[in-house]
Amino acid sequence: MWPNRNTNNPTLTEAAEWLAGEFRQIPTLQVELMKYRIEKGPRVPVAKEVVQVVATLPGSTERRVIVGGHLDTINMVDRENLNASAPGANDDASGVALTLELARIMAQRKWNQTLVFVAFSGEEQGLLGSAALAKRAKAENWKIDGVLSNDMVGNSRNLNGQSDNRQVRVFSEESETHSGRELARFIHWLNRESGNKFGVKLVFRRDRFGRGGDHTPFNREGFTAVRVVEVHEEYSRQHTANDLPEAMDFEYLANCARVNLRTMASLAQAAYPPSEVLIDRKQGHDTTVTWKGDLGGRYMLYWRDTASPVWQFSREVEGSAATVEKVNKDDHVFAVGAIGGIPVEAK
Ligand SMILES: [Zn+2]
Repeated sequence: MWPNRNTNNPTLTEAAEWLAGEFRQIPTLQVELMKYRIEKGPRVPVAKEVVQVVATLPGSTERRVIVGGHLDTINMVDRENLNASAPGANDDASGVALTLELARIMAQRKWNQTLVFVAFSGEEQGLLGSAALAKRAKAENWKIDGVLSNDMVGNSRNLNGQSDNRQVRVFSEESETHSGRELARFIHWLNRESGNKFGVKLVFRRDRFGRGGDHTPFNREGFTAVRVVEVHEEYSRQHTANDLPEAMDFEYLANCARVNLRTMASLAQAAYPPSEVLIDRKQGHDTTVTWKGDLGGRYMLYWRDTASPVWQFSREVEGSAATVEKVNKDDHVFAVGAIGGIPVEAK
């Protein structure tokens, strides 16, 4: 019988220590077993101090890009039994494996931004670990460019006869307080422009119905975060003894990792985003966008039909203004971003 990694159990601590050991084999990483407290509640019989793994690759700036999955598992069938089997191969060892692999790859060179690789715990008790890290990030005034939460990225078919190994879903919500939606749109654009045949399917929702993920506590604190998750979930395996490696599609997981890697590498090198991105409101057949940024800096100008959910066109521009001929502002949305950074919508 497979054990579990229930956050209430010593098995979670053992798993976290093992994973920290894996991260420590990467010489440039700073590895921390982050302690936080979980309080008594529906899925926490006894309040206690628990750990999660936070591995940091220092960059030349204070800005951070975070990627993560959750290390903990739960058995919801035999829920009173804290020793019930819960292998959690897909939910969410897939996200943790992806995170470790990205650390191995990204650590091979230096980046502008500081990269943070996280294996959350307490996810199955109500996003407790991600909430603890998001609160800490806020308290310590972290400058986070984006958070990629990978939760179930290793399964390409369900037992209902449906399969899709050609794309992965990215969930995001529209908000005034954070830019999750713009990060999602950027991931789609980046992936499409790279010519990747493996696609990104945007879902314009916070998460699936009645479900949650570790991106949400970050969004709540005002940071920019999205959830990455497979297209066809098999619900009978989730939170049971049946979430086993045998059901995994490792090629699919590798493709999901590539989407994350491309995004992280892009954000990790981007200059500061422009500010005061504005559309010139004078009447005309052309559209002029202005912004404030680095003198002589290079930027990417994006536009799309107002009814298109994704960026349709883009062009590299210089300076602090650009005009797109014969594209009318009245029926298009425009944005400007640093090269490789999340676009800022023009108002
Ligand atoms: Zn999960």
